Amino acid sequence: MPNLVSADNPVKEFRVSKVGADKTELLNVFAAVQSKEAGVPEAFEVLQRLSDTNYLVYPMKAVSRVVSSSSSSYGGGGGSYTYNYSQPDRSTLYWLVTESPWNAVGGETISGIFAIKTGNVRTYTTALGAQKSVKELVEIQPPLLSRDEFVSRLRAGEEWTLESYRLEPCSRCFGDGKLSDLQGNARCPDCRGKGKVQVDLIVKW
Ligand SMILES: [Zn+2]
Repeated sequence: MPNLVSADNPVKEFRVSKVGADKTELLNVFAAVQSKEAGVPEAFEVLQRLSDTNYLVYPMKAVSRVVSSSSSSYGGGGGSYTYNYSQPDRSTLYWLVTESPWNAVGGETISGIFAIKTGNVRTYTTALGAQKSVKELVEIQPPLLSRDEFVSRLRAGEEWTLESYRLEPCSRCFGDGKLSDLQGNARCPDCRGKGKVQVDLIVKW
């Protein structure tokens, strides 16, 4: 999996063995680790809709990951990410079969799914009446990390780094976004004036 996030975030630790009675944050962390284990979801630009689960598509590549707005508040746990995608690679067309119906038409995007090549070839008829063959992709559900496996891998010493897990007040400017009077109230270089920074979380036993 490509590393999608710059590595200059401050880093905090989350020790699963030290979690007390309030398991809320642990559930968020577990969900984020599950999603990381599943990998980066894919996106496709629709060239043509064939039915609500069959599409001619061009693949796109994830280029960056952002914490979803629902989890971007201070201290709010991550656990869900959205991705920014590149322009579609229009050199190869695929026939995509989705698991559940989409409502996408030509030019729109189907995103956040996982798909594999089946080895099958599908044939469609172009607007000019020509027969074309393209490779078939089928949406799959990635295997989900179970809670037992999560715990046993942690106990065995495995760690996960959740990049840009949450937003926290900047420790240099204390959330002001600018430096002190003595420093001429210059824009804070650590948070670039935003007053908050993305924090990476290291999950360990
Ligand atoms: Zn700052």
